[in-house]
Amino acid sequence: MAEKISQRADGSLLVPDEPIIPFIEGDGTGVDIWPASRLVFDAASAKHGKRIEWKEVLAGQKAFDETGTWLPDETVAAFREHLIGIKGPLTTPIGGGIRSLNVALRQILDLYVCLRPVRWFTGVPSPVKHPELVDMVIFRENTEDIYAGLEVEEGTPEAKALISVLKETLGWDIRPDSGVGIKPISETGSKRLVRAAIEYAVKRGRKSVTLVHKGNIQKFTEGAFRNWGYEVTRDEFSDVAVGWDDCDGKPGDKILVKDNIADITLQQVLTRPTDFDVIATTNLNGDYLSDALAAQVGGIGIAPGGNINYVTGHGVFEATHGTAPKYAGLDKVNPGSVILSGVMMFEHLGWQEAADDIVRALEATIADKIVTYDFARLMEGATEVKCSEFAAAIVDRL
Ligand code: NAP
Repeated sequence: MAEKISQRADGSLLVPDEPIIPFIEGDGTGVDIWPASRLVFDAASAKHGKRIEWKEVLAGQKAFDETGTWLPDETVAAFREHLIGIKGPLTTPIGGGIRSLNVALRQILDLYVCLRPVRWFTGVPSPVKHPELVDMVIFRENTEDIYAGLEVEEGTPEAKALISVLKETLGWDIRPDSGVGIKPISETGSKRLVRAAIEYAVKRGRKSVTLVHKGNIQKFTEGAFRNWGYEVTRDEFSDVAVGWDDCDGKPGDKILVKDNIADITLQQVLTRPTDFDVIATTNLNGDYLSDALAAQVGGIGIAPGGNINYVTGHGVFEATHGTAPKYAGLDKVNPGSVILSGVMMFEHLGWQEAADDIVRALEATIADKIVTYDFARLMEGATEVKCSEFAAAIVDRL
C-alpha cells in the first residue's frame, strides 16, 4: 500500500517501497515530457520491487486555467506534506504578482540548495574535445543573493527613498536615475550551503569542494561566503576535510576545500575540468556556472536539477529548461532533463540501483544513436525519434 515518505529523528528519509510522490506535469512541453519520463520511472522502480504512487498537483498555466491561481496552496501543502516531489517546466506569469513560480516554491519551502550534477553521458554530442573529463556537482545557494529579489525600480518613490537613505547614512553617491538591488549573503545561508556540499562530498567519496566567489571585489558578501565556508570546514569537518591554507594544498586522504574567483572559474572549468569536483557557490555565480557547464555536456535538453533542504527533508526535483512553447504538444523535445532529475530523486531516496539502471539504459539508447531532434541535429547517422519513442527505447534497454 502506498505510504508517505517521512523523516527519521536523525534527519534522514524513511522511504517506503511504495511512496506517494507529488508531481507537477509542467506547462508547454510538460505534456510531452512528463508522460515519457514517468514511463521510465515506473519501469525502473518495478524492476527493483518498488512502485511510486504519483499524485498530480497543479502549478503554472494549468493551475491558473483550472483554479485562477498560479501556485495553489494545495500544491505547496502537498510538497510540504510528502517531502519529495518532481516537476516539469513552468510558464513564468507575465505581469502577475509572482516573479517566478520556481523561485516562489524554493523560497516557500526554504529549499536552500540548488543541486546540479554535471557529467557527460557516453555518446551525447558536445562542443568540447573531452567532455568525459567533466564530472562536477554544483551546490548553488538558492535563497539569498539575487534570489532574495530585493530591488526597487528607477524613478519610483521607493528608489528615491533608498538612494537618499544610503546617502545620509553611509555617504554613498548613487546616480539618481538608478534602479537599486540589494544583495544579502548571510553567515547562516552560506554555512548551511557549504555544510551540505561537504556532507555530500563525504557521502559520495568526492575529493574536493571548491568555494566559488567574487570576494576580491565584494568582500563582505562574496568574500564573507568564502570565509564562512572555510570556517565550517574547520569547525565541523576537521576529521574528514581540510581547507587549502590549513594543509598547504596537501589534504592527505581528507577532502580538500579550496576557493576560486568566479570569473576565472568559468574559464578553468573549460580548460582544466579535472580540477573541479564539488562546487559550492553563491546564487548568481551558480546560475552562470551551471548553464555554462551544462553546455559542455549536452545542453539544457538533458541538464537535471534538484532543490533541497537537507534539514527539513524537503526536495523538489525539476527540469532546468523552460516550457519551449513552440514545441508544446508535438511529442518532439528531449525528456532527458526530467528523466535525469528523476535519477537524482531516486538517488536522494536511496534507490541507487534503479537510478544506475536508468543511466545505463539512457547511455545505451544514445549509443545506438536513437535520439530526439536536439541531439540528432548534432550527430551523424542518428535516428531521430519522438519524445515518447526515446523514453520507450530507454525502457527497452532497462
Ligand atoms: P526554454 O523553454 O528553455 O527554451 C529555449 C530553447 O531551449 C528551446 O527553443 C530549445 O532550443 C531548447 N530546449 C528547451 N527545452 C528543451 C528540451 N526538452 N529538449 C531539447 N531542447 C530544449 O526557454 P524560453 O523559451 O526562454 O522560456 C519559455 C518559458 O519557460 C518562459 O515562460 C520562461 O519563463 C519559462 N522557463 C521556465 C523554467 C523552469 O520552469 N524551470 C526555466 C526557464 C524558463 P531550440 O529552439 O534550439 O530547439
